[in-house]
Amino acid sequence: MKYNRVLIKISGEALGDNNENIAYKNILFFANEIKKVVDKKIKVGIVIGGGNIYRGNFVEKTNIQQIDGDYMGMLATMINSIAFKKVLENIGIKVKVLSSIEINKLFELCNHDKMQEYLDQNYVIILAGGTGNPCFTTDTTAALRAIEMKADVLLKATKVDGIYDSDPMKNKNAIKYNQITYQEAIEKNLKVMDLTAFAMCMENKVPIIVCNIFQENSILKILEGESLGTIVV
Ligand code: UDP
Repeated sequence: MKYNRVLIKISGEALGDNNENIAYKNILFFANEIKKVVDKKIKVGIVIGGGNIYRGNFVEKTNIQQIDGDYMGMLATMINSIAFKKVLENIGIKVKVLSSIEINKLFELCNHDKMQEYLDQNYVIILAGGTGNPCFTTDTTAALRAIEMKADVLLKATKVDGIYDSDPMKNKNAIKYNQITYQEAIEKNLKVMDLTAFAMCMENKVPIIVCNIFQENSILKILEGESLGTIVV
């Protein structure tokens, strides 16, 4: 199946490398992968995580509240969104960042109409600031924004090339699924996305494809109908 409207979720972790939280070479690589998709006139929304900058350890080591930590995480997604926007623009892509949290000097506020308006004008839209609420994740944000933008697929771009029955980084005999149902993913507690995100996609019939963003052309190939990665339907 070919897709023409995609929400791509990129984890914060993928942006960084051993030396830098925000590694230019990684972002440039992803930006070029996204350009291939934009050149095919596919509408693109992007949700970026924040895990490269903030991942809860500050909360564990201090007595600040989880809620405060969550806001730190949401701000981290905004920092990543600025970096991503600039690199996309450098390679000639029109981009708008819409934020869930008001931050007037940087971004417009995210709402459904603005998302549609900019997609219609062939902008890539980056949806920053998570859902704007603590206690959620950017996976759930991706599910929410995919539903709002009427995406025909949510692409979860990770470091691995699909969903496995156990962690392929730790277990070399891990078996990859080509296709599973939302229900199976939830029941087996496969950690590739959080349960809220799976449940929202299930209710709204948004297929999820998990793929390796570091594999050249994989995003384009998937959107053009090649069965790479794992599809959750
Ligand atoms: N976060 C939040 N609400 C949201 C989205 C994110 O509170 O709607 C916070 C949460 O603390 C989360 C952090 O932001 O851990 C970074 O997001 P996430 O862990 O999803 O990023 P990723 O692991 O994809 O880089």
